[in-house]
Amino acid sequence: MSLGIGADRLVIASHNPGKVREIGELVAPCGVTVLSAADAGVSEPEETGASFAQNAALKARSAAAEAGLPALADDSGLSVTALEGRPGIYSARWAGPDKDFRAAMARVVDELGDSADRSAAFVCALCLAWPDGTVRHYQGSVAGTIIWPPRGDKGFGYDPIFLPDGYAVSFAEMDPAEKHRISHRARAFAELVADVFGIDPARERDTGSKS
Ligand code: IMP
Repeated sequence: MSLGIGADRLVIASHNPGKVREIGELVAPCGVTVLSAADAGVSEPEETGASFAQNAALKARSAAAEAGLPALADDSGLSVTALEGRPGIYSARWAGPDKDFRAAMARVVDELGDSADRSAAFVCALCLAWPDGTVRHYQGSVAGTIIWPPRGDKGFGYDPIFLPDGYAVSFAEMDPAEKHRISHRARAFAELVADVFGIDPARERDTGSKS
C-alpha cells in the first residue's frame, strides 16, 4: 500500500475542513496521513475548467506542485439530463453567495418546466496528482430522478429534490450512513482506493476479509 512514490502523506486540495476530515477518514485505513491545503500552505486556484474532471485536476496539480507531495482534489455536482448537464460544475454557484439551495433547487425545477425527462445524476470527479505532473482520474455517479416539492432535512445542497434510482426516499430523507454507502463520492473513492491501494472495498464489505 503506497502512493507509489514512497510518500505516506497526501495533501487534500481543499480549504473546507469538513471535506478534509471526511477524506482523511476514508483514506486512513490505507495508512495515509492527510494534510489540508492550509496545513500544506497551498493556494486555491480558480475553478476555470469546463468539467468536473478538469476542475479537480486544476486543484490537484497546483497543490502537488506547490507542496511537493501527492495531492487529491474533488469536484462534484448535480447533472440534470434535460438541462444538458446543468447545473453541473455550477452547482455550488447556483446557490449564490448566501448558499441558498432552496432557490437553486427551485431553479432546477423551473428550468425543467414540463419536460417529461426528470432524470439526473450526482457526479464526483477525483484527481490524484503527483509533483512530477502524473495525474490519475476517478469518477463516481449515482443516477436518480428530480422531484418536487423538496423532501427531507438531512444531507445538504440538492439532496431534497433527488430520488436515487431504486429508492422511495430522497437523499435528504435517507439515513446518512446509507447515503454515504451509495453516493457518487463513495463510488469515486472506491475506484481510487482499489487503484492506488489495491483494495476492493465492495469485496472487503462482502467477505469481511482484510487481506
Ligand atoms: P464542491 O465539489 O464542494 O464544489 O461542491 C459542489 C456542489 O455540488 C455542492 O455545493 C452542492 O451544491 C452540490 N453537491 C455535490 N454533492 C452533493 C450531494 O451529495 N448532495 C447534494 N448536493 C451535492
